[in-house]
Amino acid sequence: MAHLEMHQFICREDNYGLLVHDHKSGATASIDAPDAAEIERQLKKRGWQLTHIFTTHHHGDHVEGNEALKEQFGCVIVGPKAEADRIPGIRVEVSGGESFNWTGREVKVFACPGHTKGHIAYHIPSEYSLFAADTLFSLGCGRVFEGTMEEMYHSVNQFRDLSPSTYVYCGHEYTLSNAKFALSVEPGNRMLQQRAAVVTQLRQDGKMTCPTTIGEELKTNPFLRTDSPEIRRNLKMEAASDAEVFAELRRRKDNFK
Ligand code: ZN
Ligand code: FE
Repeated sequence: MAHLEMHQFICREDNYGLLVHDHKSGATASIDAPDAAEIERQLKKRGWQLTHIFTTHHHGDHVEGNEALKEQFGCVIVGPKAEADRIPGIRVEVSGGESFNWTGREVKVFACPGHTKGHIAYHIPSEYSLFAADTLFSLGCGRVFEGTMEEMYHSVNQFRDLSPSTYVYCGHEYTLSNAKFALSVEPGNRMLQQRAAVVTQLRQDGKMTCPTTIGEELKTNPFLRTDSPEIRRNLKMEAASDAEVFAELRRRKDNFK
C-alpha cells in the first residue's frame, strides 16, 4: 500500500496544522483544527477535500475550526469521549486503548491524561506516525493542567515502546525554548547539544523542527530521560523515582525563563 502523504504547516502563533492524505481514496484527515481558514487554504492548494478531523483534546487552539470545517466539508470528527461535551461537532468518540480503521489502515488511540483529563493521541503503525499533540513535544512535554504529574509521566512514557523510527507530530512549535530548558538540566548530553544547534538554525531559517522521532527524543528529551545520571545529579534527586524526577522537571520547566 502506498504511504499516506503528510502536509504540515504552522498556523495561529505556534500551532502545528497537519493534513494526512490518502491518494488512493482521496480521504484527508486534519489532526486537530486550530485554524479553519488556514486549513481550508492548505487543502485548496492541494486540491484535497477534508473527510475527517482527529481531535486530541478540548483546548480552543485545537478545536476552534471544527464547526466551520464540518459545515463546509461535512467531515467526520473523531475525538476524546471524556471531553465530548467540549469538542464541537464530535461524531465518533474514542477513549484510548482501542483502534479504528481509516483508509484501510489501523489507527491506534492512546489515552494521555495530564495536559487535559481526556487528551488522546493517535498512532498509525503502518506509517510510523504518532500524533501526540500537547502530550509529547520535541525536547519537551505539555503543561499539566488537568491531570496529575503521575498521570502525565505515564502518558509521556508509554510512547517509549514505539519503534524508534516512529515520527512524532506535535501540537506546537516549542522546540527552541524546550532545547534551552533541556540543556539547563543536561548540559553534557552531546546529542542534545547537536540537536539544539540544528533546531536553532532551523528556526533562524523559519523552518519547522517537527516531526521528530521517538529515537531522537529518547536520546535528547529530558522528560523521557528521568533515568539520566546527569539530570538526577543536577536535580539532586539521585535516589528519587522516575515519576518524581519527571514531576520536578515539569515544575522547573513551568518556571523556566
Ligand atoms: Zn492544549
Ligand atoms: Fe495547544
